[in-house]
Amino acid sequence: MALPKRQHSRQRSRKRRTHWKLRVANFSHCPQCKKPIISHRVCPFCGHYKGKPIIELKAKKEKKKKKP
Ligand SMILES: [Zn+2]
Repeated sequence: MALPKRQHSRQRSRKRRTHWKLRVANFSHCPQCKKPIISHRVCPFCGHYKGKPIIELKAKKEKKKKKP
């Protein structure tokens, strides 16, 4: 297997890595509850997909009130 003749400089590695970027995900809106959702996924807020209920979501748990 071919091996590199010289070690790459830090500048060279860093220049290559300038293209490693995070990007903001694109959101669409749920037609049922109008909340922003990832497209082609079941809505995590109301459980609907393409206007049909797919999964039943449990009601949100109430905050713990154990402290007197
Ligand atoms: Zn929804």
